[in-house]
Amino acid sequence: MLIVQKFGGSSVADPERIKRVARRVVEGRKAGNDMVVTVSAMGDTTDDLIALMKKITDNPTGREIDMLLSTGEQVSISLLSMAIKDLGCDVVSLTGGQVGIKTNEVHTKAKIVDIDSKRMRDELDRGRILVVAGFQGVNENKDITTLGRGGSDTTAVALAVALKADMCEIYTDVDGIYTADPRLVKDASKLKEVSYDEMLELASLGAQVLHPRSVELAKLYKVTMHVRSSFNNKPGTIVKEVGKMEKEVMVSGVAHDYNVAKIGLFDVPDKPGIAYRIFNALAQKNIDVDMIIQSSMRNNLNDISFTITRDDLRKALTVVEEIQPEIGFAGYTHDEDVAKVSIVGAGMVSHPGVAAMMFEALAEAGVNIDMITTSEIKVSCVVDDKDVEKAVKSIHNKFKLNEIN
Ligand code: ASP
Ligand code: MG
Repeated sequence: MLIVQKFGGSSVADPERIKRVARRVVEGRKAGNDMVVTVSAMGDTTDDLIALMKKITDNPTGREIDMLLSTGEQVSISLLSMAIKDLGCDVVSLTGGQVGIKTNEVHTKAKIVDIDSKRMRDELDRGRILVVAGFQGVNENKDITTLGRGGSDTTAVALAVALKADMCEIYTDVDGIYTADPRLVKDASKLKEVSYDEMLELASLGAQVLHPRSVELAKLYKVTMHVRSSFNNKPGTIVKEVGKMEKEVMVSGVAHDYNVAKIGLFDVPDKPGIAYRIFNALAQKNIDVDMIIQSSMRNNLNDISFTITRDDLRKALTVVEEIQPEIGFAGYTHDEDVAKVSIVGAGMVSHPGVAAMMFEALAEAGVNIDMITTSEIKVSCVVDDKDVEKAVKSIHNKFKLNEIN
């Protein structure tokens, strides 16, 4: 078998942990598998590098940010390779550029466009274990790019796709995917398996375990992912295509996300092309807009509010200021003290009343709902960020998610 394994920052946070990862990789090798391992930067290295950068400048270019942040993963691939070598296996560490991960030009949020797997094939044919730097690639100019925070998961799946791996194991510091964040909800249960679509929603909605783009890629190429702990041998959660049989379970999980900010535009002229101009201006600056709500028109004027990540708030406000004269809305507000709470479940479509049950849970917890959006498999509400814990607990109880398996 060809196995791709990914170890997150906490799994390689110190020398002991790196040695433990090395033992696990070597075990897989000795069992007769071809092993391709990708790692994140040690512990909080990436955050530390960002803090360091902020002491130098408020205005770094994307190119230099990527040059800096990509070093974290280089530290971990070299150390892990040394540890594997000491256990008697042939191994080689490789950067994203060396394994042929080609990305587009968008520094700090680059997307993988192609992987030339020749070098990896050659090294595997020589019987080597490959240790590949996660989170990075190179663009057409051979400049180093990074894939966005948490991007090593995406590296792992992309490698699995390029090499047609039999399995993609994501090792992390939790035992798998839970029905809610176990730090918030003590009796949250671990899901044995979850569909790509549900996982995609859970990941995008703030379950920090997997990078959403990795799940998207896995879904597209039907890569089975196994999310499990690097600290024990328990089976984790399998992410795969789940049969389209009628799902008994209405809701598989409650997710929450604090990285949300809201912007409201008042008295926006009601005529064709306005939404296009507003959201195109934001898209031009690579700002991802999540929820959009337009209130009903009176006197040919609408209110439009939308959410973005808190990290993008400053940038978005600059855009709003720029377009205000041209579009001619009366004013705007913003709010950073909000968060998003969501329920996800493939069985929701066939069970009417699921959204109402969620609202009931929020009402019982005394939580005010600010915005609502729904799709076939999710309902999301924006609430005050100080209400998140109450909200998640109450919803988890309402749907009896502690008894899910
Ligand atoms: N080291 C990068 C980060 O912290 C990538 C990753 O961990 O996946 O975001
Ligand atoms: Mg990380």
